[in-house]
Amino acid sequence: MHIVVVDGSRTGVLYVQQILEPRAEDVVMFTDGKMALDYIRATPEVEVVVTGLELTGISGTELCWELRLLANAGRPIYVIAMSANADAQHLIGVLDAGADDFMSKPPKANELSARLRVAERTLKMQRRLIELATIDSLSGLLNRHAFRERAHGAITAMGRDGCTSLIVFDIDHFKSINDRFGHSCGDAVIKAIRSLKIPPDTFLGRIGGEEFALMLPDLPLDGALSVAEHLRQQIEAMAIDAVGHRISCTASFGVATMAFGGSAGDLYRRADTALYEAKHTGRNRVCAAPPERGRG
Ligand code: GH3
Ligand code: MG
Ligand code: MG
Repeated sequence: MHIVVVDGSRTGVLYVQQILEPRAEDVVMFTDGKMALDYIRATPEVEVVVTGLELTGISGTELCWELRLLANAGRPIYVIAMSANADAQHLIGVLDAGADDFMSKPPKANELSARLRVAERTLKMQRRLIELATIDSLSGLLNRHAFRERAHGAITAMGRDGCTSLIVFDIDHFKSINDRFGHSCGDAVIKAIRSLKIPPDTFLGRIGGEEFALMLPDLPLDGALSVAEHLRQQIEAMAIDAVGHRISCTASFGVATMAFGGSAGDLYRRADTALYEAKHTGRNRVCAAPPERGRG
């Protein structure tokens, strides 16, 4: 586990480090709460934070609160607060601020180890729950809900001069693959979509039965069209081994782009309209959506 230890006093930090050393954990120390928070935000591997409450930069309570916001946004983080003040009202305040656990200071080695074991169990369960809620179990890709959330995040993070493209694609005549080879072969085709090569910093989701979407932050329409064409060729070239059959298939693609200030719903609708056009003009092709209303 990657652990961050924060305490206002250097002695306090070193004391906890000594306890953690024999566990061979990956431990990073801070005496400044703000610096700790910046590090944790930028380092997704951090899963456990052991923090005192009297810090410089920001208070321990504030740090707990900020970490709770990160955890609520889908990142598993377990926070153990430490304080010399074990007064019940104080304890309630710390837990309400967002800490998962509390221990008195200075921590005892065996007690801290036991609490880290609880952290490990809790994090494992959280990771599993997040996976169940966000990953489509058949394809291993983001599910519809998670894809929409990430797409929304990418649109929100877009700069004023930026643009974002969306590719939606749908396997052609998929029903006939099921009918000819059986449902489990159809499943194997859906699974195979996971092995497509996609550009870095893009993300792929399964947004319907045999419908997928690729979000391309910062990529304008011409770039997105060539990515879609590359995906189309990859799918066309696939020979999928499925329950004694070798299956090939094709897919149709719709591509749309939005500029800063556009709407996610409109982006999806335009990409979907382009996909519809690709289906109705012969399938196994890429179609571009017309520009956003009022921008073309
Ligand atoms: P088109 O080229 O117009 O897209 O035709 P299509 O046959 O691909 O589309 P249609 O919407 O008629 O059929 C989609 C089929 O996909 C129907 C449904 O049973 C099947 N399907 C949806 N989800 C799954 C799945 O998880 N596994 C399998 N094997 N089939 C699925
Ligand atoms: Mg289809
Ligand atoms: Mg479909």
